[in-house]
Amino acid sequence: MADHLEKALRIIQSSRDGVLQSELWKLLGVDSRKCSRIVKKLLDSGLVERVEFKGDGIKTFTLRAVKKSIRPALILAGGELIPCICCDRECVVNSCNLLLDWMYQLAIEEHTES
Ligand code: SF4
Repeated sequence: MADHLEKALRIIQSSRDGVLQSELWKLLGVDSRKCSRIVKKLLDSGLVERVEFKGDGIKTFTLRAVKKSIRPALILAGGELIPCICCDRECVVNSCNLLLDWMYQLAIEEHTES
């Protein structure tokens, strides 16, 4: 179930306009009953919202990711935004000096605040 939950959330989050619930179970490769349980868990978690959708006279629901506001403290260090936001480099996270420098600033800030 956890795998399907994660996969469902990824599918929903990666679609700007959301995903029809009537399509989600096919994308997940589960039956519609199991999909309903997965959707209920996602709705209960608050990560996903359900919006009524009418197409061809049939009522169904679109599932959309809930957009949460980002706390500035999570993307700022030393007055600098995390470099990934406007990065066009070939990303190799483990050896990225830009990110390492930024994290170093973050560590210094956290150390001086405590
Ligand atoms: S980790 Fe480095 S290369 Fe990757 S997106 Fe962030 S700044 Fe860019």
